[in-house]
Amino acid sequence: MKKCAICGWKVKHKKVDIPALLKNKLLMIREVPADVCCECEEIYYTLEVARKLEAIEDKFMQGTIKPAPLKNAYELPLPA
Ligand SMILES: [Zn+2]
Repeated sequence: MKKCAICGWKVKHKKVDIPALLKNKLLMIREVPADVCCECEEIYYTLEVARKLEAIEDKFMQGTIKPAPLKNAYELPLPA
């Protein structure tokens, strides 16, 4: 059983939306698999997921991907 590094409570595996503020634009990366603390809601990802998030953020910054704007944010599912 994994435990939260901050408060010591158990973490639960689920899919979460991760907001990233880039160039003053909010990018919501959706359906990101992560372990979330039941108590303090700290989010933990695997290294693989962290790398995917970084890759998306880089592409977004370079303008390689242009997700459709949604309200005041951009939204994108995490690619497989
Ligand atoms: Zn915690």
